[in-house]
Formats: sequence, structure tokens, C-alpha cells
Amino acid sequence: MSTPATATRLRSFGTSIFAEITQLATEHGAVNLSQGFPDFDSPEFLKQAARHAIIVGNNQYARTQGMPRLNEAIAGWFRRFGGRPVDPHDEITVTSGCTEALAACCLGLLEPGDEVVVFEPYYDAYLPDLAMAGAVPRFVTLHAETDGSFAIQEDELRAAFGARTRAVILNTPHNPTGKVFSREELAMIAALCIEHDAIVIADEVYERLTYDPDKPHISIATLPGMAERTVVLSSLGKTFSVTGWKIGWAIAPPHLTAGVRAAHQFLTYATSTPLQHAAADALSGVKAQAYVTELTALYADRRRFLCDELRDLGFGVNEPEGTYFIMADHTAISERLGLSGDIEFCRWLTTEAGVATIPPSVFYTNKAEGERLLRFAFCKRQKTLYAAIWRMRRALT
Ligand code: PMP
Ligand code: GLN
Repeated sequence: MSTPATATRLRSFGTSIFAEITQLATEHGAVNLSQGFPDFDSPEFLKQAARHAIIVGNNQYARTQGMPRLNEAIAGWFRRFGGRPVDPHDEITVTSGCTEALAACCLGLLEPGDEVVVFEPYYDAYLPDLAMAGAVPRFVTLHAETDGSFAIQEDELRAAFGARTRAVILNTPHNPTGKVFSREELAMIAALCIEHDAIVIADEVYERLTYDPDKPHISIATLPGMAERTVVLSSLGKTFSVTGWKIGWAIAPPHLTAGVRAAHQFLTYATSTPLQHAAADALSGVKAQAYVTELTALYADRRRFLCDELRDLGFGVNEPEGTYFIMADHTAISERLGLSGDIEFCRWLTTEAGVATIPPSVFYTNKAEGERLLRFAFCKRQKTLYAAIWRMRRALT
């Protein structure tokens, strides 16, 4: 065949950076601080719940919108941790990870030509999802400030909204910057959404991974006037260290849930039945809360350790407020080595130092904003972090 088989709308996106760097890391035996997945085991009580669900025979298709007991557990979880009371059966859809929920929102709620405000750096699935729906992104940059924080400029945000704006994709806590949006920032976004009658697709997968008591996670759905125009997305993966389970959900009022389900029923119809049972146990049991408290304390330590060590190596680092990622300015080091840009430095660090990271310029349309940064994932065993620092110290000093 002379023409490429991949559909035009997806051709420009190539291979996901996570797959590409993880493969490069494997080829070079590098310590992998690139893709965000824990390299330690998942909690025992969850593994047992999944095993039990399979053994007792919960192995056929689930209800398309989710097993009733999981929908109920999600409603309880959302209400307890900063959300709002929701009807478990009319306002919650269980999906195959947040990734499927994102696609279902775009395909089920957007028309071709609709404009969608997207903050950059963005999570890599957002643009392909919009392209599949025929929607058009309008970018607002989270500018890296000299103090290491990432800020929205109000005039830039306002300028991104127009007559065709249908939605905003908002990720807080934010991957890759680690930013937790403040109430004031959320209020600014909410006011523009209300003014332009736009909805929010709120990606809150890192909802429980925050480290600063002064910067708690706030769901935009809880701001005045926003419940009726927000779809909150989350998943089990980050909170319970089971990224491979792909159990996610979309919480929205019935008129928006209808659109999400219109797409979900034909994307996957339903999500893995035994894992939904295990997820229901996870979200409703007391062990769950103890696990999350322990995990956040552990991540807070790893975050501090990696930030201190990176700073010591000459990176410019600010401690992230949430997620399990650190954005580090590499320019002082890469300039000394005669390397330019994040992609070149990331490749060098993987192949020569044996430490894999993510070059964040791939998450920007305005590439220059991300070129001086590297993303490190700290959702790893302490010994993995020691190994990474030891290797970098050997290569850089
Ligand atoms: N959104 C963001 C911001 C993420 O970091 C991730 C995790 N890679 C996802 C969505 C996808 O979540 P899931 O693994 O539940 O599909
Ligand atoms: N969310 C993870 C990250 O940002 C990776 C997800 C994936 O591999 N698709 O690293």
C-alpha cells in the first residue's frame, strides 16, 4: 500500500513518550524514573480481594455503568474526600482507567469544531482524544516561574476562551508540574466557564497525592455553579499503586453522564468485573484509608529525598505540591556538558548515565517552555532512587 494505514487524525502523534522512554531504559539497563508507575508491590488486601472475586466466580460482563457496589463505593469516597454528594447510579460511570474516561468525555460530549481550553504542559492523551473527537485545543501555558512554581496568567486564560469554547480540560494535582491549583485559580477558571457556558473535564487522578497542608486538593466541581458543568475523572491506579488495573470513573450530573455513557458503552461496554469488586473493597474499607495515609507519607519522604539530591547535583528544583513527579531545571548541567534541550539531555542521561527521565517539551505545543526541564518520577522504591542518584553522581561529578 502506498498510503500510510494510520488515520490522518492520529498520524502526527506517533508513539507515546512513556512507551518510547521505557523501551530505551530497558535497552540500556537504565534506572527508570520516567514512566509514572510504582516499582513496589500493590497492597496485599487488594490483591486478595481480586483473587477472591475471581475464585467465587465474578467473571462475566459487568453492568455497563459499573457494578452497583463499586458505584456506591465511589460515591462514598468522593463525598468523603472533598467532593459532593452524588447519586451512585445516575451520576457515576465506571471506566477502564481514567484514560478511557477521558476518551469517553471527548467522544461523548464534544462536537467537531468545538474549542477546548487545555493547559500546557498537558497529559499526553488529551490532544489525541480531542483529535479523535474533531475538537480543537486552545492552549494556556503554565509558565515556570523563577521560584520553580507554575503560574497561569489571567489575560492568557481569558484570551483562550471564545464563542466556540465548549470545554476546559483541567488536571489538578497536575502532571507533570506537581502543581495543585489554588481556590483562587479554580475560581478564575470557573468564572470563565460560567460566562462562556463551558463544561470542565476535571482530571483528578492524583487527588490523594498532595503534600502541603496549605495546598489541599480542591475539586472544581465543588465551586459555586460548577457541579452542573463538571465531569470529575479519577481512577484507582495512583492512589492504590495498581496502575495496571485500569479501573477509573467519571462523576457528572445526569445530563453530562448521558454523553459519557453514550461513548463508554461502545468503547468498552463494561470494565473488568473482578477488579471492580476488588475496587469496591478498596474504596470502602478501613484498610484503604490507612494505606493511603501511609503511601502519602512515604511519597512525601521520597519527594524530599529526590529533591535534595537533585539540587545537590546542580539541578534547579522546587518541591512539587502534589503527584509523584518532580520537574527539574537541567540547564546548569547540560550547558556544562555541551548538550542542548531536554530531549538531547534525557537521551544522554539514559544512555550514558543510566537513568531514564521524561523530556517535558513533548507535553508542550510551545516547546521552548519545556526544554530546560526534565521530569523525574519518585513513585519508586528507596533503593531505586539511591541507584539513580549514585549513577547520576558518577556521571556528572
Ligand atoms: N491523567 C493523568 C494526568 C495521568 O497522569 C494519568 C496516569 N498516567 C492518567 C490520566 C491515566 O490514568 P489511568 O491509568 O487510570 O488510565
Ligand atoms: N501517567 C503516567 C505518567 O505520566 C504514564 C501513563 C502511561 O504510560 N500511559 O508517567
